[in-house]
Amino acid sequence: MTSSKSRTSPKSRLVVLAGPTAVGKGTVAAYIRKNFPEVWVSVSMTTRKPRPREIDGTHYHFVDDGQFEGMRAAGEFLEWAVVHHQAKYGTPRGPVDEALAAGRMALLEIDLQGARQVRQQIPEALFVFLAPPSWDELVRRLRGRGTESEEERQVRLTTARQELAAQKEFDVTIVNDNVQQASEELVSLIRA
Ligand code: 5GP
Repeated sequence: MTSSKSRTSPKSRLVVLAGPTAVGKGTVAAYIRKNFPEVWVSVSMTTRKPRPREIDGTHYHFVDDGQFEGMRAAGEFLEWAVVHHQAKYGTPRGPVDEALAAGRMALLEIDLQGARQVRQQIPEALFVFLAPPSWDELVRRLRGRGTESEEERQVRLTTARQELAAQKEFDVTIVNDNVQQASEELVSLIRA
């Protein structure tokens, strides 16, 4: 898959990866962080509680609502959203600006609402949609993860249906059949 966007301005080195819940965005971002150190991966702020094995400052910056709101009021987020009606998530603006100013390739792994906000501000970024091989596979991945209650899973699946319908808003779609392959495809787009 190729992109027709010009990739010469610093802001065009920004890639936004979105897609439905449980499609594997976090896994792809983690794979890229580990295997492609030349790509800077943004660490979001969130008010959600850490899951087992999540490390503060690596997977997310875990903050309380007061800290999050303080940053929001100060205009420190490039984008932010309430995701799955549950927790707030936001991309701190400063580190993104610094990475791009330093000439680095930068990756944001965020939800659809956030991707739309970034497009308003930085239309020259590349917007990539990570899609599941099928709806059944998405449901299977969400159940297999085992980190949500049945009620939370239903909320996430409702959001996922809406998010899948937004695929056409994106510049490129990558199907996440295999994490390594999807990650390599994404990095080759970032480098292009
Ligand atoms: P999770 O709670 O499973 O880690 O993430 C839930 C959702 O929040 C995922 O769809 C993820 O892409 C999204 N997300 C993570 N960080 C951000 C962020 O900084 N901004 C926005 N808008 N969404 C985010």
